[in-house]
Amino acid sequence: MKCSNCGQEGHNRRTCQALYLENNLPRDRALILRLDNMTEDEQNRMHSEIVKLKKKETSDSVIATLVEGKSSELPSKIKAIHSSIEDQCDE
Ligand SMILES: [Zn+2]
Repeated sequence: MKCSNCGQEGHNRRTCQALYLENNLPRDRALILRLDNMTEDEQNRMHSEIVKLKKKETSDSVIATLVEGKSSELPSKIKAIHSSIEDQCDE
């Protein structure tokens, strides 16, 4: 019998150690991305690519929240990272 999660013999998905480890990783990280000066069309395409990338790169434990709208309407917390994002990339 092969595990449907990791493909190894000897256990199943319910008892898979790899899945257990993934589900018990510390999950205290978040990512906020702001893109200014977009057209509505660019924003729509970016939205669908972000959704695809989220599914591809993260597990089901990751909760996605996407804020869209006119830059003047975005919450001030998101406004605050404007222009400082490059400084934080090399953490
Ligand atoms: Zn397994």
